[in-house]
Amino acid sequence: MSRTQHTHRADRRDVPKPHAETQARRATLEISARPSAEVICRECSEPFVMSGQEQVWFELRGLALPKRCPPCRRMRRELLRTTEPTTHA
Ligand SMILES: [Zn+2]
Repeated sequence: MSRTQHTHRADRRDVPKPHAETQARRATLEISARPSAEVICRECSEPFVMSGQEQVWFELRGLALPKRCPPCRRMRRELLRTTEPTTHA
C-alpha cells in the first residue's frame, strides 16, 4: 500500500494557463480577491451585498459606491429616464 504522498496543496491551485496572462486576466484576479461588502440601502433600508467585482467596477470609473440596492437603483434610473424632460429633438 504505497500511494504516493499527496501534499494536498499541490494540485489545486496551479493550473497554468499558457497565454492567458493578459491585463484583463490579472484584473480579474484582483477583483476576485476583493471581499464583498454588505451595504444598507438608503432607499428601502434593506441590506444588500455588493460583490467585490461591483466595487471594483465603480472604482475603476472613479465613482462612489452606490448607496442603494440594485432594485432601487434600477427603479431610480427608470424614474429618471421617464422624468427626464424630452427636449431632445
Ligand atoms: Zn433598496
